[in-house]
Amino acid sequence: MQTPPLDYSRYTLLIVDDNPTNLSVLFDYLSGYGFRILVAPDGETGLRRAKQAHPDLILLDVMLPGINGFETCVRLKADQDTRDIPVIFMTALASTDDKVRGLEVGAVDYVTKPIQQAEVLARITTHLRIRDLTQSLRDANAQILRMNRELEDKVRERTAELRRAYEQLERLDRKKSDLITLISHELRTPLTIFMGYAQILQQVEEVQNNRFLAEVAEKITTNAQRLQDLIQAMLEVSRIDQEFLRLSPAPVNLHHMLVALHDDLLPVLTQRHLVLRLEGLEALPVIEGDYDELLKVFANVVGNAIKYTPDGGTITVSGQEKEHEGEPWVEVVVSDTGIGIDPSSLELIFTKFYTTGEINLHSTSKTRFKGGGLGLGLTIARGIVEAHGGRIWAESQGYDESTCPGSQFHILLPVHFKGVNA
Ligand code: ADP
Repeated sequence: MQTPPLDYSRYTLLIVDDNPTNLSVLFDYLSGYGFRILVAPDGETGLRRAKQAHPDLILLDVMLPGINGFETCVRLKADQDTRDIPVIFMTALASTDDKVRGLEVGAVDYVTKPIQQAEVLARITTHLRIRDLTQSLRDANAQILRMNRELEDKVRERTAELRRAYEQLERLDRKKSDLITLISHELRTPLTIFMGYAQILQQVEEVQNNRFLAEVAEKITTNAQRLQDLIQAMLEVSRIDQEFLRLSPAPVNLHHMLVALHDDLLPVLTQRHLVLRLEGLEALPVIEGDYDELLKVFANVVGNAIKYTPDGGTITVSGQEKEHEGEPWVEVVVSDTGIGIDPSSLELIFTKFYTTGEINLHSTSKTRFKGGGLGLGLTIARGIVEAHGGRIWAESQGYDESTCPGSQFHILLPVHFKGVNA
């Protein structure tokens, strides 16, 4: 690639030489090319000019009255203002020592006297180019540094903003949890009294003999029971939230647990024409866990499978032993032939109060097809599984009520308890 010619008129040269003939020859020759030329007859004057005018390059004679060229160069290089100006020595001495010395004190090059004009021009041109390149590199570097700093500032600002937003969210979440706990506690006592009276009412003969009153008493009891379940779920979530869930690990036979759950659910399964199959659970090892809490997990997940599978469908609970990092685990998968879950909701369904159903379904049956809940079941299930040191997640091809692609809930539990109080 051809380098474009330099526009010499952009540059100022300082020539430091005590020989007037030499000075005028160089002056005429170089100014003929368009350079702006400054001259100095000795080192001291040269230093002053360099500091004032900041030339682009200095041609410096070695033999000078007062301080010599080497000393002048040392001082130029010691001064912050002039240290970057390239210096070319002019030496009448053919001695190698002087050339080396000149380079040692910081000169970029030298020319020997008598001066060959074309050579001087060629060297000046080369060093001005180098200087320009160095300068553009330095500018680019400075720009990159500046951009980096700006970027860092922005990242720091955004991080601080995010932290503030997160803290605010945490505060709100804590307030919400506190409120839920408070309300649930406050509701518990009157509700128990309410339920007690409703049950008494159901025993009263006049009520039993009156179909309308009997139905009213029954409705009050079932709905009070439902309300009690909801309060229980809310208290459970707030316990998980505040990490108050204390487990009592003991040997748990998951096969027995799921057979018992199956038997409990039999009336519902029959009513909804659903089949609940248990596969490969007998072979599972006994694990260490909290029976009551784990039962809640499976009751929730299987309960959901019932709710979100149309009549006539199949729910399969299968299990297998796995090894992970040299330790035994069991993985139980609850699959259904239900309406499935949209991929965007697979994680969200585990968050508090998240339901994909319509809000107006919320008061309907716990087992009816698509009967809605409060959106706490899976939050509780995840809290319990994680408190055991395990994992729970959902998989599905998608949500489609006509083709029913189904969902699979995976529950991975360590055989040896790894929970909070392990
Ligand atoms: P809910 O009380 O609403 O059932 P959950 O926390 O148990 O609350 O479930 C949250 C949401 O996840 C449900 O509203 C439902 O949309 C979706 N979901 C859970 N299980 C299934 C399933 N087996 N098939 C399809 N959707 C499901």
